[in-house]
Amino acid sequence: MSARRVAVIGAGLTGLAAAWHLREDAEVEVFEAETRAGGRIRTIDLDDGPLDVGTEAVPGREPAGPDLLAALGYAADELVHPATDRLYVWVDGRLRPLPQRTVCGVPTDPKALAASRVLSPADVAFATSEPARPRRQVAGDRSVADLVGERFGQRVVTRLVEPLLGRTYAGSAARLSAQATLPPVWAAAAEHRSLLRGLAAHRARTADQDRPMSVTVRSGLGRVVARLTTALGPRLHTATPVRALAPHAAGVRLHLDDRTEVVDAVVLAVPPAVAAVLLSSGWPAVARELAGIRAASVGVIALAYDPADADAVPAGSGVLVPRDQGRLLTEVAISARRWPHLADRDRFVLRASVGRIDDPHALALDDDVLAERVDAEVRRCLGLRAPARERVVVRWPHALPQYDVGHHARLDRIRHLLEQGPHGIHLGGAGLDGVGLDARAADAVRLADAVRWDLRHRTEVGV
Ligand SMILES: Cc1cc2nc3c(=O)[nH]c(=O)nc-3n(C[C@H](O)[C@H](O)[C@H](O)COP(=O)(O)OP(=O)(O)OC[C@H]3O[C@@H](n4cnc5c(N)ncnc54)[C@H](O)[C@@H]3O)c2cc1C
Repeated sequence: MSARRVAVIGAGLTGLAAAWHLREDAEVEVFEAETRAGGRIRTIDLDDGPLDVGTEAVPGREPAGPDLLAALGYAADELVHPATDRLYVWVDGRLRPLPQRTVCGVPTDPKALAASRVLSPADVAFATSEPARPRRQVAGDRSVADLVGERFGQRVVTRLVEPLLGRTYAGSAARLSAQATLPPVWAAAAEHRSLLRGLAAHRARTADQDRPMSVTVRSGLGRVVARLTTALGPRLHTATPVRALAPHAAGVRLHLDDRTEVVDAVVLAVPPAVAAVLLSSGWPAVARELAGIRAASVGVIALAYDPADADAVPAGSGVLVPRDQGRLLTEVAISARRWPHLADRDRFVLRASVGRIDDPHALALDDDVLAERVDAEVRRCLGLRAPARERVVVRWPHALPQYDVGHHARLDRIRHLLEQGPHGIHLGGAGLDGVGLDARAADAVRLADAVRWDLRHRTEVGV
């Protein structure tokens, strides 16, 4: 029998890593719509060196991300760990440290919450009286704002939890799923009468994980993409969008701009809205579910200052900006303080983020105005003395999937529908279960295993 053919659609980290894992098991081809691979990973060259303007770190809590870097041959001296993970919150014109000992921003230590002064004394008093409040038993998923707000007050949501989740989702706490986006909080709510005490116990169990837990690559994460694409060689086709998929007796038919191809199996690693279009005729019920997963557009503004103007900038990895502060900024990543390899560059570099799912205001501005206004806000926030010497705006339309209330139930329905057939589609990507690169690397392993099983099964039954 001739070699099995597998099409991987989407050359973000999920698709590239899945193709890389499968490269010796089948004839793999990767189809990517854009002229470059990498999806949300992109490294640009500023005047004094490279800077990641999409993903900047691989979370290290799950082993799959670091494992992938090791498998790609990265040695310890090519990897960098953060010098600091300390975060601040910009409230009422002042930088306040994010309270210590929170779980995803949910307080577990009344003294630490009061000491940070992110909340007023009245808000602290309400939040820390949580153990005394009666418990409301609720079956099913709830929004972050509902679950956390009810127990601790809405200020804990708007000033701590939503800004922290904003780094991953740029979403609204009123719609994000507590089950999908705050798993430890969700689990503690089910198990404990008091969320504060339940989460304090969770922290005590996981305290050893409090060390800096992310890693990046000295030359930029774009180099990881380059290693994968080099290994895949001619199997990768950029500027080759797939337009539709259709069930076929021998597998799945791909519709490209200039031809169709039949393959035994497809790894579909594109954003949910694109997957919905591709699956709309052959898998309409799956497509309807995928079309319900929304995505937020965000922007990253890379800023490079004269180091002499930056001595007042605090030693922290970043600043969160709650929406009630009425700023364009949602977050500032103080790259030059966070990453040792960026600290001694000729310029003091940082990345500012803008954009929320329900607030298109910042992204409606043109690049020059946006860069100017963001630069001014960053200077005021961090005490920089003069405007940035270099400013680069990078837009990420529909880039961050929203795990809205009911997300896990939706995933269960999607998996069930795909099991019913037609077969041959293996669905992955950040829109489903896990946005971070550790989750993406784990998803790639899962997808490769599922495809191998699928191909073996087809051979056994003679398809
Ligand atoms: C600004 C920003 C900062 C981030 N920072 C971090 C971070 O520091 N750490 C972290 O862990 N995560 C971070 N993330 C999240 C992380 O980058 C993403 O979740 C992850 O890269 C998504 O990978 P993916 O392969 O699932 O999808 P994507 O990277 O979205 O790749 C999907 C690919 O499919 C292609 N495609 C679309 N349509 C078609 C078609 N019809 N045919 C063929 N190809 C198609 C797209 O062009 C794209 O290349 C960040 C995300 C953003 C936007």
